Amino acid sequence: MQFQTSSQFVRPDQKVHIYSQALLGNLKAVRDLCRPETKLCAVIKSNGYGHGIREIVNILRQGSADFFAVANAYEAAFIADIAGQIKILILEPIHTASDSRTIRLCAEEGFHCPVFDIEALKYVQDCLKTSPDVLNVHIKVETGMGRCGVDADRAAELLKKIRSFPNVRLAGVYTHFTTAAEKNLAYAQQQLENFKKFLSTQSLLACPLRPRSETSKDVIIHAANSAAMLNMPDAHFDMVRCGIALFGWAEYPDMLKIKLTPAMKFEVPIVQLNRYKQGQTVGYGRTFTAWRDTIGAIVPIGYADNYWRLYSNNAFMKVGNTFAQVIGRVSMDKTIIDVTDIPDASVGQFVTVIDNDPQSMCSVYRLAEMADTICHEVLTSLPPRALRIIH
Ligand SMILES: *Cc1c(COP(=O)(O)O)cnc(C)c1O
Repeated sequence: MQFQTSSQFVRPDQKVHIYSQALLGNLKAVRDLCRPETKLCAVIKSNGYGHGIREIVNILRQGSADFFAVANAYEAAFIADIAGQIKILILEPIHTASDSRTIRLCAEEGFHCPVFDIEALKYVQDCLKTSPDVLNVHIKVETGMGRCGVDADRAAELLKKIRSFPNVRLAGVYTHFTTAAEKNLAYAQQQLENFKKFLSTQSLLACPLRPRSETSKDVIIHAANSAAMLNMPDAHFDMVRCGIALFGWAEYPDMLKIKLTPAMKFEVPIVQLNRYKQGQTVGYGRTFTAWRDTIGAIVPIGYADNYWRLYSNNAFMKVGNTFAQVIGRVSMDKTIIDVTDIPDASVGQFVTVIDNDPQSMCSVYRLAEMADTICHEVLTSLPPRALRIIH
């Protein structure tokens, strides 16, 4: 099925550098933190956390991931031809309004899909009844996240019923933590206990005295995102689902117990140098007044490229090795930075908007902090039209 159009263009003046060795090194670092038999699911949803999903797949498939997790069937279809041996897990559940052709595609391609209720399961069976294909289904147990999934009782019901659907195969049981990135892990531990309790009532929890039954051996139990992978070794189960860590970031810098390397740097060129006399104002709304004679460098990125307006008079970019502050308001396609103290700043020179150095004043951490958000949102806001350059 075709979900693609080619109506987009690429902007070579906005360069997103992707560092393959950093990504593969992070993948290995995550692997090394897990038991050797633990599977690794590389979460690359939402256009590979903004980096560019096909670029990321092409790099990560050289490493040792077992699964790619994507947001929806469209992303899955978009990478299926290059995923190679690596299986694809879709994170959005199939529901009774899902397109039947999409469900057939998922079964045909061998995608793994969450299903959260019995009606959806019946619907899947109905969509597939004339086909030889079997859909790999994962059941998500709601253990305290308060988002999607089913509570333990209904999950038990689903597990019982699933066997009676010939075109459906139970491939996984999972949950998701809400506070695994917080310093206080009490609630996350409670979720873990809830999950373990459920697994043990379903004979899905491996323990020395009661090994998992033959039929349940192929069922992949998974729970941990990057934060839980780092902070909660007990939550690794059969597979960890890591996103942000692979890209070299965490919710907060001191959470990292392993060395991760940021895998992306974003640059744009200076397109004009502007001299402001002391007292002159800069940009919309006159929010910056030159307190000295000032040289401003105009760069072709603005809030339309998700360089947020709240970076006005606030964020920094890196020119050579020197940081230059944004002056005046960020406009739709342009931003001005103060390069008065950087005499060799020149038109055509590329400046760093998002740095791959965690200590930098324009690191993903700093930008996220400034915008009162997390690294995930800074990354997924990378402009999709910027040229991706793979190193
Ligand atoms: C996004 C997501 C992850 C990955 O989260 P990170 O914090 O980026 O590691 C894992 N599991 C689920 C269900 C997700 O939606």
